[in-house]
Amino acid sequence: MASAEKIFTVRDEGEIYEVDIVSGLCSCKSSRMTCEHFKLIRNLLDKDLTAKFAATSSLHKELRRSDMGRSLMWLRWCIHMRGEARMKQYLRDICFEETRNFDLWEKIKPHGPRLSAREMTILFARSRKKWEIPAAVEVARIHNKATVDATIMPTITLEEVVKQEKDEFEFYRWFKLLFRVWCHQLGSDKDRYGNFTDKVAVDDMKMLCTRFTKIVRKQLEEVNHKGALKLCEWHDEQKYLQYNPASALIEVVCGLWDESGNDFSKAPVPKDIPDAELFPAYAFDHHTSSGKPKVRAALDKKPIPGPGTPLPVDLRWSGQLLGVWWRYQGFRDLGMPYREAAWEDVTLAPEEWEWAMSADRFWRKTGGLYRMWRGRAKAEAAG
Ligand SMILES: [Zn+2]
Repeated sequence: MASAEKIFTVRDEGEIYEVDIVSGLCSCKSSRMTCEHFKLIRNLLDKDLTAKFAATSSLHKELRRSDMGRSLMWLRWCIHMRGEARMKQYLRDICFEETRNFDLWEKIKPHGPRLSAREMTILFARSRKKWEIPAAVEVARIHNKATVDATIMPTITLEEVVKQEKDEFEFYRWFKLLFRVWCHQLGSDKDRYGNFTDKVAVDDMKMLCTRFTKIVRKQLEEVNHKGALKLCEWHDEQKYLQYNPASALIEVVCGLWDESGNDFSKAPVPKDIPDAELFPAYAFDHHTSSGKPKVRAALDKKPIPGPGTPLPVDLRWSGQLLGVWWRYQGFRDLGMPYREAAWEDVTLAPEEWEWAMSADRFWRKTGGLYRMWRGRAKAEAAG
């Protein structure tokens, strides 16, 4: 923010308030001590840590929602707090978390065209999101089944992995398993991934991943997908397997992608964007310190909330599996108007709900997911 600026506009429930940051006066007429608008601007200007995380989370959610004005509004604060270069990298990091847009990647990738973070954000907000691709409506279910199967499958050697290359489903399933073992070996979360390591009989994980990406590349050459092949090249240069870009490649190989993945809308850049607004409820998922206990309380509630139940937290735009699957199902059921739908307007299949809940608990290291998988494996063995 320019230091000369002293009047800031803050949107709150559709009203725009003006805050004089020097005098502390706000057009809402609250005192300097109680005015939320003043406090918000002060925290953002001061790079308060909580505000920094909330602003970044809000930016991420607005990009997901394809809300151009709000994306640009939060980007401005993120640049103030984290810097232009860091935000450009952030947008690259989440490109394949949110989209399957290979044209977007070509435009924002390192050493690509020299775009500013603002130009990158405009393209990102205009891009179709990965759950809005008609060919991908089944992705969440396949992801679910592949992950469950990867966990309950018997130990397999490298030679056996490579033999699987002709079967697309096996391929995807293998990726899920490999990724988990890989994460374990990287060492950041040994407890979380420890359960998976005994599933792969292999000494050199890196070699396994390299061979795996070679198989992906061969299949991409067969379908001659230029965007995905370029991503593959970049992937090779990185020398390690990145989850979201690798997922994008696999979805192309498995036919879970169509040309609409590369769509950009013509969404205009609004002229009057307020300086800030009170953080939206959906900014606070389990990635934030205030959202985490709420999510935990919701998931631990008895009776456990079921499909179509309103939650005390707004997970529609969250990165948690419940949110991701709500979006896939929402687009499947409602098409683009899903963006305006309420949580309970979209009903997940009971199995998907159960799995997502277990997975979200799993990420909290309670072992719920693993227990559920073990239960399922036992049931299958018995039945
Ligand atoms: Zn105020």
